[in-house]
Amino acid sequence: MEQTLPAEFIEMLRSYGDDYAGPLLHGLSEPPQVSVRANILKGATPLPGADIVPWCEQGFYLPERPVFAADPAWHQGLYYVQDASSMIYGEAVNRIVDRFLSKDIPLRYLDACAAPGGKSIAALEALPPQSLVVSNELDRHRANILAENMAKEGSPFSVVCRGDASRLAKLKDAFDIVAVDAPCSGEGMMRKEAEAIRQWSQGLIADCGAVQREILSALWNALRPGGVLIYSTCTFNRTENELNVAFIAEELGGESIGLGLADDYKGIFPGIGTPYHCCRLAPGHVRGEGLFIAALRKPGDAPAQKSSKKTAQKPLSGFSRRCVTVPESFVEQTSPQGITLLPAVHAAFISEISRKTEILRAGLPVAVPKGRDYVPCHELALSVALSSSSFPRMDLDYAGAMAYLRGEILTNLPDGLPKDFVLVCYGGQPLGFVKNIGRRANNLYPDALRLRLSPRYLPPEAPASLITLTR
Ligand code: SAM
Repeated sequence: MEQTLPAEFIEMLRSYGDDYAGPLLHGLSEPPQVSVRANILKGATPLPGADIVPWCEQGFYLPERPVFAADPAWHQGLYYVQDASSMIYGEAVNRIVDRFLSKDIPLRYLDACAAPGGKSIAALEALPPQSLVVSNELDRHRANILAENMAKEGSPFSVVCRGDASRLAKLKDAFDIVAVDAPCSGEGMMRKEAEAIRQWSQGLIADCGAVQREILSALWNALRPGGVLIYSTCTFNRTENELNVAFIAEELGGESIGLGLADDYKGIFPGIGTPYHCCRLAPGHVRGEGLFIAALRKPGDAPAQKSSKKTAQKPLSGFSRRCVTVPESFVEQTSPQGITLLPAVHAAFISEISRKTEILRAGLPVAVPKGRDYVPCHELALSVALSSSSFPRMDLDYAGAMAYLRGEILTNLPDGLPKDFVLVCYGGQPLGFVKNIGRRANNLYPDALRLRLSPRYLPPEAPASLITLTR
């Protein structure tokens, strides 16, 4: 691989010292690792004996890349495919909350450049209960994928919006943590994507650095005094990394805070040529791709959350009340597009966000109108807030589950299945809804998600489970 890398890139890395560049250049010639994180919100954990990622107890390496689309558990959101280096986000958020914020109150977290969503998912799992994660993305196609991934994660404490990150700067002092996982020159993706090698140039680095500083300057406004900014990239050069951390410290006034990650985990490198706390994860040093991460505190202090204006809490409609485990923790929003449940503690804040930018998905979409009836949303099936007794259930075997995911009509229904909406499950876990109309059940799996994989590419039997369920 070293020969195919641009000579100027190799020279740049070598200028960072042999102890950094040597292992990294070797690592770039090795195949990438495959890793996944079990969804702890859904009670999933790694199998005993799994090859655990050192800094993420629910993350583990796989010996090879399976066909994830052939595994119902992936569609059910029981695990998420994520590069091991990115999993450091969860531990970083843990330490920030522990050392600089509070574990006892729900926090507001902004992931400003969020698609496809791995770092938002890591944050949701690491933040105190009932914290809100607002995940934003500029690109519409990527924002839709982000919304799908957040729905699979299953937390109702999530908002997905689409637009330029700078729009969220209008939410002054609104967030306890702002994460900027910035668009970058992508040097850390070089061994996965040939495009990252082809597009590399010093000009690209300079352009990316300028865009990053623009995003950071705008979003500094959205961070409350005493809150913490997380800055990260998946690139190796100092311009987009240490020099931007210096910009946050020296131009915006951020206080660099140490999280101790480089001290605690073998292979995590501190920043290069900088007085500020930074961490570098890189192939050859760790089993993962490139990731740079730093955290800076905004001086001052302000309440962790401005008390939301109390939304007059009307009781939920019968349909919503039946669907969720803790109806009193939600407020209901009804519009011609359908019924959505918003976490009561964040409802006023979510309305404020909707006045500043486009929200694609907030809280828990429950149902959409059809004629005089309501049809349950797919998100409800995947939500951890779903009450398990709210719908009749039907268990599918592997072939049935894959037929469901392809969008097929289901026949051979069990005797006595009520003519109603039915929650279809695989391995005891929800997969989606059907409407039983008698001898067959109409498939309500969303068109956009339907599996396009021809049955001939699917294994005849269920693939071995990658995770274990604790509930
Ligand atoms: N945090 C993501 C994850 O872990 O799954 C990866 C984010 S990727 C490094 C950067 C993302 O920022 C890209 O999806 C890109 O489309 C998006 N982006 C680029 N410019 C943006 C802007 N001005 N506002 C918001 N998002 C932007």
